[in-house]
Amino acid sequence: MIGTVDSRDRTAYLLSRPALLATLAETLPDGTISFGTPAPTLDALTDHDVVIGADGLRSPTRRQLFGEKFEPVYIGATAWRGWVPGHRDTVSETWDADALFGITPRDGDLVNWFACVRTDAGHPGGLGYLRSRFGNWHADVRAVLDAATPEALLHHDLYDSPALPSYVSGNTALLGDAAHAMAPNLGRGACEALVDAVTLGRFLTADTDIHAALRRYDRTRRPATRRLVRGSRAMSSVAMTGRLRPLRDLSVKLAAGLA
Ligand SMILES: Cc1cc2nc3c(=O)[nH]c(=O)nc-3n(C[C@H](O)[C@H](O)[C@H](O)COP(=O)(O)OP(=O)(O)OC[C@H]3O[C@@H](n4cnc5c(N)ncnc54)[C@H](O)[C@@H]3O)c2cc1C
Repeated sequence: MIGTVDSRDRTAYLLSRPALLATLAETLPDGTISFGTPAPTLDALTDHDVVIGADGLRSPTRRQLFGEKFEPVYIGATAWRGWVPGHRDTVSETWDADALFGITPRDGDLVNWFACVRTDAGHPGGLGYLRSRFGNWHADVRAVLDAATPEALLHHDLYDSPALPSYVSGNTALLGDAAHAMAPNLGRGACEALVDAVTLGRFLTADTDIHAALRRYDRTRRPATRRLVRGSRAMSSVAMTGRLRPLRDLSVKLAAGLA
């Protein structure tokens, strides 16, 4: 079902979004989730004890609670992701000036890949652009791009969230990208959405005072996820530095004992 990567005492589990959603959904009774149905706005939910806005990067719930000033900010890079037939046990990420390319295991007989390039928002590039941009990179990268198809390709500009004053307002809580979208360079956005959900569920179950539980959720999750938003942005800058690339490469080699 999933790819696993061992690194010292930690194991990373890599699984695709459809596999994750299917795994979560099958634990729930039929009819709990209505796929493809727009959620009601907050005004239509005033009779509910708690409302959770898990509506992603462009969260309408966040906008309703905090206004336009907390819209996500472009981080200066765009990303393509895709999958090709094959099998892989290891994760690799190659850094160069203003770009990076990663190859990882994926569930099924598939290999996952991602490419990131520093550029203005709205870059129109497709596979032709990627093959030319990465055409002089190492053989693994070229082989993956040769096998890639437009049907198995996603392209997204990358954004992260300004710091919200709170993840909670009244009886409504925000979680996941609605609260703390981050650059993908630490691979933590979806993981943190899951941690939010588990934390919120635990606090709401443990405390009969809903507002106290929501305040505890905000106190616990906001500092931790803000650190990750900043860390992910910093990692993105380091991985795709242009001008400082020689210094970056030397520092990494020294840290790894290779210089
Ligand atoms: C290039 C890239 C690579 C990434 N790689 C990783 C990685 O390796 N590891 C990792 O952990 N994270 C990664 N992420 C981040 C991850 O995708 C997000 O952090 C994660 O999807 C956030 O989950 P979410 O549920 O908060 O939001 P979303 O996944 O955006 O889900 C929100 C959902 O709410 C729905 N919605 C919105 N409004 C309404 C409405 N009114 N009614 C009903 N539904 C609504 C949307 O349709 C959407 O399905 C990556 C992101 C990008 C862009």
